[in-house]
Amino acid sequence: MTAAVLARGIRKSYSGTEVLRGVDLAVRAGEVVAMIGPSGSGKSTLLRVLNHLEAQDAGTVHIDGELIGYRQRGNTLRSLPDHAVRAQRSRIGFVFQQFNLFPHLTVLDNVVLAPVSAQRRPRGEVVAEAKQLLERVGLADFVDAYPRRLSGGQQQRVAIARALALKPRLILFDEPTSALDPELVGEVLAVIRDLAHSGTALVIVTHEIGFAREVADTVVFLDEGVIVEQGEAARVLDHPEHPRTQAFLSRVR
Ligand code: ADP
Ligand code: MG
Repeated sequence: MTAAVLARGIRKSYSGTEVLRGVDLAVRAGEVVAMIGPSGSGKSTLLRVLNHLEAQDAGTVHIDGELIGYRQRGNTLRSLPDHAVRAQRSRIGFVFQQFNLFPHLTVLDNVVLAPVSAQRRPRGEVVAEAKQLLERVGLADFVDAYPRRLSGGQQQRVAIARALALKPRLILFDEPTSALDPELVGEVLAVIRDLAHSGTALVIVTHEIGFAREVADTVVFLDEGVIVEQGEAARVLDHPEHPRTQAFLSRVR
């Protein structure tokens, strides 16, 4: 089966500082990967490179077998035009720490927008699916509400429904519970837990180590722009082999 993610040799610098220093990452179809690592280690940058919100300086990303952001001409890569990148991105879900809902759109319209505008699917069909998705994340009663009326946990569940509406083979989560009050974390983790067995590949950047152990197949530990250790979740979390993984895990719990 085609890998959900195949990233090879990813490098990225900001003003002379190399933030990703040769990252290789493979995610199988349906696999759940938890990505952990200290603040500033490059986790968000890597997620943004995977869906080409950020262009890498070197290396390639394939999502579902498709080269992201570029087309290959012989040995050289040419940038794809913006509309082609947007079409690629519309097949990859992305859930941000700060929800990033459109404040001027209702909950329903937030979910419906991308499938209709970026994927050009019929609105009636998308609306019916969006209502089902909102029911699935426990928000059937909030279809016509505006985001500002919702709690952070509810807003993040809308963001997850919005990602699911793209029917993605892959969803990227960047610290989806970090901006939430502690009492709202559980409801969002419950929704993500529910997705873990749905066949969609998930890459979840998280500091929730207990959650990672419970839902992830694989844990990837990123430090200073390189993957220092990766493997089966319980193995990495309970018996980390690398001293930097050991030090990080002893700090976060
Ligand atoms: P993490 O998500 O693991 O905390 P980030 O990927 O956000 O790490 O950041 C990695 C490093 O890159 C940090 O030192 C950060 O300051 C820097 N960085 C991230 N985005 C930018 C940017 N747009 N411009 C300049 N520096 C950036
Ligand atoms: Mg980050």
